[in-house]
Amino acid sequence: MYRTHTCGELRLENKDTSVTLSGWVQTVRKFGAITFVDIRDRYGITQLLFGEELNKELEENPLGREFVLQATGTVNERSNKNPNIPTGEIEILVSSFSILNKSAVPPFTIQDDTDGGDDLRMKYRYLDLRRNAVKKNLELRYAVGRAARNYLHNQGFLDIETPFLIKSTPEGARDFVVPSRMNPGQFYALPQSPQTFKQLLMVSGYDRYYQIVKCFRDEDLRADRQPEFTQIDCEMAFVQQEDILNMFEGLIKSIFKDVKGIDYNEAVQRMSWEDATWNYGNDKPDIRFEMKVLNLKKPSTVYTNKQDNAGLINGADFKVFDEAETVVAIAVPGCSEYSRKQTDEITEWVKRPQIGMKGLVFIKVNADGTYKSSVDKFYSEERLKAIADAANAKAGDLVLILAGAEERTRKAISELRLEMGKRLGLRKEDEFKLLWVLDFPLFEFALEDQDGGGAGRWVARHHPFTSPKPDHIEMMISNSPKVDDPEKYLEHPYANIKANAYDMVLNGNEIGGGSIRIFQRELQEKMFAALGMDAEEQQHKFGFLLGAFEYGAPPHGGIAFGFDRLCAILGGSESIRDFIAFPKNNSGRDVMLDAPSAIAAKQFDELQIKLDLK
Ligand code: ASP
Repeated sequence: MYRTHTCGELRLENKDTSVTLSGWVQTVRKFGAITFVDIRDRYGITQLLFGEELNKELEENPLGREFVLQATGTVNERSNKNPNIPTGEIEILVSSFSILNKSAVPPFTIQDDTDGGDDLRMKYRYLDLRRNAVKKNLELRYAVGRAARNYLHNQGFLDIETPFLIKSTPEGARDFVVPSRMNPGQFYALPQSPQTFKQLLMVSGYDRYYQIVKCFRDEDLRADRQPEFTQIDCEMAFVQQEDILNMFEGLIKSIFKDVKGIDYNEAVQRMSWEDATWNYGNDKPDIRFEMKVLNLKKPSTVYTNKQDNAGLINGADFKVFDEAETVVAIAVPGCSEYSRKQTDEITEWVKRPQIGMKGLVFIKVNADGTYKSSVDKFYSEERLKAIADAANAKAGDLVLILAGAEERTRKAISELRLEMGKRLGLRKEDEFKLLWVLDFPLFEFALEDQDGGGAGRWVARHHPFTSPKPDHIEMMISNSPKVDDPEKYLEHPYANIKANAYDMVLNGNEIGGGSIRIFQRELQEKMFAALGMDAEEQQHKFGFLLGAFEYGAPPHGGIAFGFDRLCAILGGSESIRDFIAFPKNNSGRDVMLDAPSAIAAKQFDELQIKLDLK
C-alpha cells in the first residue's frame, strides 16, 4: 500500500497513529542530526521528521526537491506548531522510507510565489500544475462545471455529444481544417461551436440539450483568447426569449450559490444594446459603477430613439468638436483636483495606439463652484457648467471629453470609463453584477475580412441562424444588402435591423450569448442571401439544415456560456489561461508539446497532399 492517508489529512486527533504517506518532496531542512522534510500532494503538505537513526540511510539516499517519497511513521504532536497550514499541529516521526522516484532539479520553484516566468511555466506545465494556485483554479473549474451540470440536469436537460469532425459552423472566425485521408482532397472543419447540431437536435425533439464542449476558432489571438476553448452550450425548443433569460439566469445564480456561496437574489438587470452602447460606450458594460456617458452628438441613424446634446457644444467655433462624428464625455467623481501632470498622463493614456484618440478635453468642476477647462478659450464658464451638469458632474468631479470617429471614440470612452473606474477602486473584485444586453443589431458591416469571406460585406453579428425581430423581417426582405459607400454603411437600413439576440454580461465581461433562431427554411434562405450566399452556396454549405427545416422544425433558441472566462471571473483572475490545464500561448502554440509542428513526409503522402508554402 502506497499510502494510508493523504498529505493534507492528518490532525492532532490522529496522534500516535501509525501512517504511511506518499508525495513529492517540497523542502529538506537539516538541523544537526535530524532532518525535516515537507511532503506534498494534491491535498496538502505534511512535515516529516527523520531522526538520528535514519541519518545513514538518508546520506546514502539523499532526498531532493520533487523526489517522490513514501514514508511510514507515527503521528507526533509538533513542539513548534505552524498555524498557517491545516496539518501544522502534527508531524510524522518517520520509521522507514523509500524513494519511489527521483526528480531532476525543477526549472522553477513549485510554490505559490514561484520564480518561474510565464514561458518556462508553460513549457513545464506538468510542474506548474503541481502549484497550489493552479490547482485551486482547476478545482474551481471543476466546481463550476459540476454546478452547471446539476442545475441543467435538474431542469431536464440532456447532455448530448456532437462531433468534432464536421463541416463549417460560422461563428465569425476562421475554421480549423483537418484533411481526410479516406477522401483525398477533402477536409473536415472543427466546430466553432455545436450550433447547427444543437439546432438539429431540436428538430429531432430533444427539447432541452446541453453540453460542456470544446470549440475551435482560428482567429488572431487577442489577449486572453484561446484557439480551443470550452462552452456550456445549451438549446431549448418551444421557447421565447423570456423563457431563455429566466432559465439561464437561474443557471448562473445557481453556479454563484454552489461555487461561491453567493445568494444573488435580485433580478438580473436588462438593457437594450442601444442603451448599453449609448450610455456606456460598449455592449458589455460594467454596471458595478455609474459614470454614464454623455453623448454630445448623435452620430448615426443606429440610435433611432436617442436625443443628442449637440446644443451644448455647437457654435463655439471649436473645430475639434465641430468636425468630429462623435463627442462623448464622462464625469469622474472626486478628481477635480488632478494636477496638470495627472491630466497629461490621462491624455497620454487615451493617445496610446490601443485607444487611438488624438487628445482629451477636460473640465474641472471645482469644489468652490468654479469651472476650469482645457477649452476655456472656446467655452464660457456658463457653457462649461451646462456640459458638466449634463454629464451629471458634481462639485469636485472631473469631466473628460473625447471626440473623433464614431466607433473608435465610443470604444475609447468605454475604455476610459473602465480605466477610471479601476483607478478609483469602483470595480470591486468580490462584487458580482449580472446584466442582460438585448436587441442586438442583426448585422455588422465587415470593413475588414474577419473569417476569410472577404471585406466590405454584411456579416451576421451573432451568427446566421439568429432570427431578426419579427417586425424587422420586412426591413430585411425588402432592402437589397448592397452597400454603395462602405464608409457610410451605418446609413443602410440593414444597420438598423435588430435581432432576437441576448448576451449575459458579468462585471463588464460577456460571459454568454445566444439567440432565438430562425426555424423556417424560407427565412433562413433570405438570411443566407443577405449575407451574400447564392442558392448554390447555401445548398453546398447548409443544405442539411435547410433540409431539416422542412421536416417540422419547432421554434427554438439557446445560448452558450464561455466556460473558461466564467471560471476566471469567479476565480478573480483576468486570464482564462490560468483556468485551463494545458493552454496555448498568445501565438496559439503549445510550448510544452511544441505544437503546431511539421509532419512527416509519409503523412502528406497518405493524405495525397503536396506541401507548397507560399
Ligand atoms: N453558438 C453560439 C456561440 O458560440 C451561441 C448560441 O447562439 O447559442 O456564440
